Amino acid sequence: METGTQSLSLLLVLLAMTVTVVLTTKLQEDAPPCQPAKCTVPDCHCSSTDSPTGIPVKDLPHFVVLSFDDAVTITNFDFYLGIGDRKNPNGCKVQMSFFVSHENTDYTLVNELHRRGHEIAIHSVTHKSDVQNYWRNMSKEGWTAEVVDQIDMLNMYGKIPREDMQGWRTPFLEVGGNTMYDALQDAGIKYDCSWPTLHYTPWFVESDGTINGALWPYTLDFFSIQEQTVGTKPTQSFPGMWVAPMTDLQDNRGIECSMLDACQSDEDELETSADAVTQLLKRNFKAGLSKRSPFGIYVHHSWFVDYPVRTEGMKQFLDYMSAYPEVYIVSMRQLIAWMKDPVPLDQLKDHEAFQCPDKNPPTNCPSENHKNCPYTAPLPISQAEVYMKMCVGTCPTYYPYLNNVEGKDPYTK
Ligand SMILES: [Zn+2]
Repeated sequence: METGTQSLSLLLVLLAMTVTVVLTTKLQEDAPPCQPAKCTVPDCHCSSTDSPTGIPVKDLPHFVVLSFDDAVTITNFDFYLGIGDRKNPNGCKVQMSFFVSHENTDYTLVNELHRRGHEIAIHSVTHKSDVQNYWRNMSKEGWTAEVVDQIDMLNMYGKIPREDMQGWRTPFLEVGGNTMYDALQDAGIKYDCSWPTLHYTPWFVESDGTINGALWPYTLDFFSIQEQTVGTKPTQSFPGMWVAPMTDLQDNRGIECSMLDACQSDEDELETSADAVTQLLKRNFKAGLSKRSPFGIYVHHSWFVDYPVRTEGMKQFLDYMSAYPEVYIVSMRQLIAWMKDPVPLDQLKDHEAFQCPDKNPPTNCPSENHKNCPYTAPLPISQAEVYMKMCVGTCPTYYPYLNNVEGKDPYTK
């Protein structure tokens, strides 16, 4: 009798579990594996290590993307100009990508980077450091505010045109699964560059000896083949949303690093030797030469502070690459534009995204209109005092921040 009751309970539990699984599956509707015939550029591209639309490798441009994260300030601005002061083989100035967060950002300097042709992308308002309690399991509303409010502030205080802000990098590379991509898509973001990969690099050797090679940027129309190393993998379909995978570098110990800052060496050579920095970058760049898959150098300015050899090493590497006629240092936005309309190297000069921008366009943020707005506690940040420099207008009454981009609402202790 007792066994009978137990069996019945077990049956009911199993039934309940089945119903739950069926319901969840139905609600989530996982994206199917990619079907190349149903996924063609400009708006769809399967996650793959093959070069786009079958252009032979020898005819491909080899793209290098240089990106910097966090606040743009008077402390890092000149460094950026120094790194970016070089030209691509077509004679145009190189373009870099800046993933900008709000706190301490000088919006007049962001405007100047944009005026010089660099890409301004989004890296959240708050950049809160509590990954576990803040970013992980964040609601769609939470993601939306972090994305949209930062777009609004870059537009209001830095006069960056909305249509130029297309990219997103999530703080700490904590990819937020379906919820994050849902919010990005609704916010008008065109690509995400937050998702590191180790297995799809030009250097990682699988246990059976195969090397997959690097993934090219792809869209989330179909299920991604990319493994998730940080955060949560999206499973649903987000048509037309591009992912620019962050291909891990291999550091001087042979260990992966998603951002250059995280690369280590056994000795302190990355602090004392410019050549060690150059060699690290060269080795990783050369690993991708045979397929000309895009090479990303993702780093923070803070890595270069206190160690001048790092700047020297980086510049040596950029000089070294300039000997390759197929190498173009481009913004992530340019790379995505090329993915949508891939052309061989010899046709790059006719591609809309690769025209030389006006060398010295007039500024829409003249210095006589700049305002440096001071704010003191109570503030929504840990600093007791902060300045926000902006292009024009009267200083907002309170410090502009998440859910308060116009600074109309006071803060309480
Ligand atoms: Zn950051």
